[in-house]
Amino acid sequence: MTEEVGLVVEKGSAAGGSGGGISVRNPATGEVVGVVAAQSGQEVAAAVRELRLYQPEWEAMGAEGRKKWLLKLQDWLIDNTDRLADVVQSETSKPRVDALIDPSFAVDLLGYYARRAGKFLADEHPSPHSPLGRIKRLTTAYRPYPVVGIITPWNFPLAMPALDVIPALAAGAAVLLKPSEVTPLSAVELARGWAEIGAPPVFTVVTGGGETGAAVVDSVDYVQFTGSTATGKRIAAACAERLVPYSLELGGKDPAIVLADADIDRAAYGVAFGGLFNSGQVCISVERVYVEAPVYDEFVDKLTAHVRELRQGADGREPEHELGAMANHTQKDIVARHVQDAIAKGAKVLTGGKATGVGTFFEPTVLVDVDHDMACMTEETFGPTLPVMKVADEAEAVALANDSIYGLSASVWTGDKARGERIARQLNAGAVNINDVFANLFNFALPMGGWQQSGVGARWGGAEGLRKYCRKQAITAPILPTQQKEPFWFPYSTGKLVFALSAMRAAGARGIRRLGVRDVINTVGGKGN
Ligand code: NAD
Repeated sequence: MTEEVGLVVEKGSAAGGSGGGISVRNPATGEVVGVVAAQSGQEVAAAVRELRLYQPEWEAMGAEGRKKWLLKLQDWLIDNTDRLADVVQSETSKPRVDALIDPSFAVDLLGYYARRAGKFLADEHPSPHSPLGRIKRLTTAYRPYPVVGIITPWNFPLAMPALDVIPALAAGAAVLLKPSEVTPLSAVELARGWAEIGAPPVFTVVTGGGETGAAVVDSVDYVQFTGSTATGKRIAAACAERLVPYSLELGGKDPAIVLADADIDRAAYGVAFGGLFNSGQVCISVERVYVEAPVYDEFVDKLTAHVRELRQGADGREPEHELGAMANHTQKDIVARHVQDAIAKGAKVLTGGKATGVGTFFEPTVLVDVDHDMACMTEETFGPTLPVMKVADEAEAVALANDSIYGLSASVWTGDKARGERIARQLNAGAVNINDVFANLFNFALPMGGWQQSGVGARWGGAEGLRKYCRKQAITAPILPTQQKEPFWFPYSTGKLVFALSAMRAAGARGIRRLGVRDVINTVGGKGN
């Protein structure tokens, strides 16, 4: 991974981009696995100018023309899955299975949006709201923002970028991607794939840290951001200044509610997976658990026993571990702080509880005797911790689940699906999975978006996942042959005005007021009130 590819520059070199180089490290070993350029604002602006040149042709190609390229990219991802997983692993040290999810997730989403874009972006011809409008053919057309800027975090270095790049390209926009400076190598591979298939140059990756990201926000026509709530607020402010639309997918503190009628084995396995997959570095990880008192002991015993069985370490190409390292030291330190804070305030650690001392590994951890005075129950941890709290009943569980500034997703574990759905509708969360975790994420027909401080808009989801990258254009065209003048054009006259107002009332008002021609005449004559 030290060869010169795209924006990846020679290992140890500070060249490439006027801002110097950023070393990318394997977090398990500290080894430098690549160096990328820290690109300047001028370089970002130049990249956007270049994209603007090619975007009109990409848009004009139509959804069917673009489908051909997107499906070629899908083939490329499938052909290169193992090598891509190697790159993902090199910069994250996640388990082989988790690394393989990255390209596979992108393949799945590609199929969905490449094949459906034609239908999702087709012109619409709504019925006029009034009989007066029936003389026109009405069209709503979806026209892409010319250049979409996409800024992504480090937790899924290939999937996070791909999941936003693909719908934006499918919509007909050109895309400028700025991946996390912690894990930029996989995104550079994605751009390499786009070039290798010979696709039009409407997708470019720029590398660098926050300043490069800010330059992206300053240059593009729409911003899709995935990352922390703090950065999301900065980006929203910058977009407001330019009056540029944006969509934000931010942090979360997702609750799991385990009710007394649940299948406790399934709940324990599911909560463990939901909290510890990718070492808890998933936006929709289970971050806190509320368990009804009658099943609390059984659930905690089963959860703890299962978590103790999990294997942690650095995989090669064979899947040998369920948990890998944290993506960086900063994130590991946040997890340690949350656990220490909980212990200091009276929580008990049933398993795990500390960094292993090797690289950025942090042991999978179950905490009990926790409450909402502790950071582990209120702040986003983004790590392998499962704090579990006993609650008296469903009402207390719902109240505590909603006691959060976030609202990304939640899960409810119950033997009664109708009860689960009823509770789902009481939760302040963009998605609720009943007796499961992450299921919403893998159903692209559903909106993927956070409420409250977890986001603005939705990342994808059915037709809206493409239409968000488009400006809606209203087009009217006459149905009947046109005359030299429309009756209401200049010059004005009282007769015309009475006719126009009467017609609009007759079409839009209700009851006797529809026919109040006398009122109209009085109004026109200045006698109305
Ligand atoms: P982060 O906010 O620190 O960085 C995200 C990206 O923003 C990086 O590419 C970074 O370089 C860039 N950036 C930083 N400052 C910027 C600025 N001023 N202008 C423009 N870009 C800027 O987030 P992170 O630590 O990389 O990722 C972890 C966070 O991402 C967690 O909070 C997690 O919940 C969130 N996340 C959310 C989702 C979701 O779909 N809701 C998915 C994955 C991760």
